[in-house]
Amino acid sequence: MRTHHNFFALIILIALSSGSAAAQNRYAIKNVSVIPMNREVVLSNQTVLIEDGIIKNIGNSGKVKIGKDYKVIDGTGKYLMPGLFDMHTHFFYEHGKHVNTNETELKLMLANGITMARIMTGHPSYLEARENVKTGKWIGPELKVACPQLVGRWPWSPDFKNYEIVASAEKATKAVKEFKEQGYDAIKITFMMASEIFDAVVKAAAEENIKVVGHVGPIVKLPKALAAKQQIEHMDMFIEMLLPDTSYNHGQSVSDFNIYSKAAWATVPHLDESKIPALAKSVKDAGIYVTPTNYFFITNAGLPFTDEEIKQKPDYNYLPSDSKEEKWKYRNSYLKNMAPLESREKYVHIRKKMVYELWKAGVPLMAGSDAPEFFVVAGFSIHDELKTMVDAGLTPFAALQTATVNPATFMEMNTRTGTIEAGKEADFLLLDKNPLEDIQNTRAIHGVFTNSGWYDNDAVNNLLQQALVLGQ
Ligand SMILES: [Zn+2]
Repeated sequence: MRTHHNFFALIILIALSSGSAAAQNRYAIKNVSVIPMNREVVLSNQTVLIEDGIIKNIGNSGKVKIGKDYKVIDGTGKYLMPGLFDMHTHFFYEHGKHVNTNETELKLMLANGITMARIMTGHPSYLEARENVKTGKWIGPELKVACPQLVGRWPWSPDFKNYEIVASAEKATKAVKEFKEQGYDAIKITFMMASEIFDAVVKAAAEENIKVVGHVGPIVKLPKALAAKQQIEHMDMFIEMLLPDTSYNHGQSVSDFNIYSKAAWATVPHLDESKIPALAKSVKDAGIYVTPTNYFFITNAGLPFTDEEIKQKPDYNYLPSDSKEEKWKYRNSYLKNMAPLESREKYVHIRKKMVYELWKAGVPLMAGSDAPEFFVVAGFSIHDELKTMVDAGLTPFAALQTATVNPATFMEMNTRTGTIEAGKEADFLLLDKNPLEDIQNTRAIHGVFTNSGWYDNDAVNNLLQQALVLGQ
């Protein structure tokens, strides 16, 4: 009898505790304007019911009944949109001897409305971070992690933790298989890679059913990358298609690292922007996704911020002091050798026009910050990238697509996230203002919802406070 008694007591205890857990996980957002992002519309006066991180029901506030055990969030005057994706970011940890601050950086991302981040180079500690978020041990966006970047050679400091030298096709094939086995979500490639090694990577990745993402180098060049259907970052080797002929300056202009090359900048006056629509069509025909990371290139290489502007960005408070020092050094050496203003203005104009024409041609674009390059810090910078998309000519709705549905579709997560619909995960932002009226309103974050729960205004501010340790 005694054992029975204990047995029943245990059952009751389990029932009680799971009952109260369920109640804690039921939320109703009342009287809110919903921007579902599956079409261009604002649904006013909606109630959204959430249970255990899933949207249970969504409909007119007058019709949707809110049960007693729901925690009610008043959405009056507010806008609900899907959480943001940053499709190109890195942790500070990969830079030289920097200490591991992954956990804190994730808080900074979440406080800025990022509910899904793709870490663009791999490290075992990033796979751990991904797992820690998944199991609820850490607070942060869901993570996807690309493998350590495959390079033909590495001319920089060996202190970096983010690369794997693949000097032969055999080594490349082996690396792709191993990284897939280790659980990485994509194969990241970088420039300085011979053609036959690129071929081996693409072939092995197809066999392993894993996507090839990243840079396009001056040896591989754009047509080959398009034929391989690589997902391209930074619009690498796009600007080279505007050269007067393919042999001009060995086919190189100001893609990527060539922002440091005088010879590359000297090609800019000769670039023919009337070739941009044909370029956009060839990218569209290849059926690939593109992450322009235009904010980073424009405000650091094209028309750099002043020192004062850098210090006034919120990002600056979250930059570790060792990084700060290094970044000022890089910046000052860049400024010293900077190309003439006229060339940099044309470069900025072309980068914007390429984004606009890609969008017009129907190429799915994805928002990526490339934090923490230069003074760009993960979190705040995704809003800067969205604004840069609008500056290039996208509508606010199209810009929002680059950080919601487009990346969700690319990563085959669109059946569960990226839009606000019943049955999907509750990854969203509650904004004080309408981002379709002004893209800058994505910064007016009142609260953030993820499957780990609801972060109201105080909780969001608290995360930002906690993340300030990064800057100390
Ligand atoms: Zn990057």
